Amino acid sequence: MAAKPVRQRSAGSDFAFSLGLVTLKADLVPAKQTGSDAESQFNTLCNDCPTPTKPNQVYVCPNDATHGPYKMGELTRRGKEVDGTLVEVTAEELAAVKTGDVAEKAFAISIFPADQVDKVTLPGDAVYRIRPRKDASPAEYKTYGLLRELAADPTKALLGEFILKSGSTPKMGRLLVFNGQIVLQTLIRPSDLAPTDSIDDVPLSEKEQALATTLANSLIEDFDPATWTNKVRERAKALLAAKADGNDAAVAAATTVAEPTTTDLADLLGAMLENAQAA
Ligand SMILES: [Zn+2]
Repeated sequence: MAAKPVRQRSAGSDFAFSLGLVTLKADLVPAKQTGSDAESQFNTLCNDCPTPTKPNQVYVCPNDATHGPYKMGELTRRGKEVDGTLVEVTAEELAAVKTGDVAEKAFAISIFPADQVDKVTLPGDAVYRIRPRKDASPAEYKTYGLLRELAADPTKALLGEFILKSGSTPKMGRLLVFNGQIVLQTLIRPSDLAPTDSIDDVPLSEKEQALATTLANSLIEDFDPATWTNKVRERAKALLAAKADGNDAAVAAATTVAEPTTTDLADLLGAMLENAQAA
């Protein structure tokens, strides 16, 4: 059964993306299709008759008051309504639906051209480092080295499916290399990606393009990891230290949001370039 096309609701509207004087206000829309997992989710049913439950702490069957009360954890039957008829499934059927042919604690690697994979996948929400076992033999280290060699090739994508823990659904993953270590990054499946919007293209003039490139080259700076630390942790520590000493902590005002760019883009880029060169 094909998933119904769902119009993606924006996760945040009127976000201001600013680069110096240039500001774009735009909406953030989840890259993953909303409700893409709904078809694989089953309802919890009454233990004594297959009546779908609602999330309550304690469940008393609306169909028959002698069923229950049950705590939610005691409800073991599962099912789903299909065209108005409730279909109940067994625990074994549910487990088979979930895992399919993916073995637990296994990742069978397939290799594809990276450009084909990059076009239709996006990173998911988790990354794991892969390290050799504590008692790994020289042969295992060699195998690790071989896989790392293959995963480091930017023209190839090493893909597989894996089940992180018993009972969870298989995830799609890709092997990459970071700082000499193999990492496993989850991917959003192509079928779970929301269709992308078609965006009206208003071409930049040659002058604007040239200015943008010159500007970007003048703005580029060395990346310093120390400026991207977890500031919340640092502020919490400073706040607690100040208050413990009996001092009121200074509360920083939030940065103001820039207004969208309405003036001529070339003028703005020119002004920014002058500022950058004067600095
Ligand atoms: Zn019941």
